[in-house]
Amino acid sequence: MNKQSLIDSINNFILTAPENWYLDQFRYFDEPLIGFADANDELFTELKKDNIVGPTFKNPNEWLHGAVAVISFFVPSTEHVRKSNHPAGAASDEWMHARFKGDALIHDIRRFIVSELENAGGRAIAPHIDPSFHVDFTLYTSNWSERHVAYIAGLGTFSLNRGLITEKGMAGRFGSVVTDLTFEPTPRKYTDPFQYCLFTREGKCGACIKRCPVNAITKEGKDKYPCHQYLFFTNPRKELNEQYGYPYSACGKCQTKVPCADQVP
Ligand code: SF4
Ligand code: SF4
Repeated sequence: MNKQSLIDSINNFILTAPENWYLDQFRYFDEPLIGFADANDELFTELKKDNIVGPTFKNPNEWLHGAVAVISFFVPSTEHVRKSNHPAGAASDEWMHARFKGDALIHDIRRFIVSELENAGGRAIAPHIDPSFHVDFTLYTSNWSERHVAYIAGLGTFSLNRGLITEKGMAGRFGSVVTDLTFEPTPRKYTDPFQYCLFTREGKCGACIKRCPVNAITKEGKDKYPCHQYLFFTNPRKELNEQYGYPYSACGKCQTKVPCADQVP
């Protein structure tokens, strides 16, 4: 399958999908970044280490026997959504809708890519929406990690707040699909897993530390426990969640109003 025609069809799907809009009022996501990884890249095996994703991580060939490539995408939040979340406090309505209604779009993008690859004669699977995908909230690990896959696929590097900074910033969502069709891997423009973050690169910035309402981010990195407790149990957008059936609160303060929100700083 031609790589550029796949990229064009994914772009078109995202920019024209009605599911990318909240009641015709604002769009959740802009044009994506799309990267390609070699399914047999040795970095996938590295992800099984305890201090990276963990031993439950399944490499592409464990998801799809005979896997050749992994397609990874990042859809950046629109300026409207990002700016709505600039004030301190709980997440904005726009950020909440983009998080949860936008989730349906991310799943649709995964399914769309799978169907495009199958229509081209390949086999494909989107691990994140496969029934065997699971997240362990005790150990904060999972058997597939969209951000780590994006790193391998050349889309960006990690940051102090454990996001992934891409050329379109870190505010947005990631997804991926494993296939047995052949695509040339995207070259990684970085040599260090934390290269794009000002703090981990030069000891500067730290804006995300000040943005966090529960002090989950320090100079040592992010502690997932207080963040998880805040989103799931403090649940600061409880009323909106009950109104819309959202399962917990989003936040995203550490991804907005920071130098890496929409660019490599
Ligand atoms: S806000 Fe600054 S310190 Fe935090 S992740 Fe972004 S660049 Fe790094
Ligand atoms: S999402 Fe919110 S609570 Fe979690 S680390 Fe970022 S700013 Fe802190």
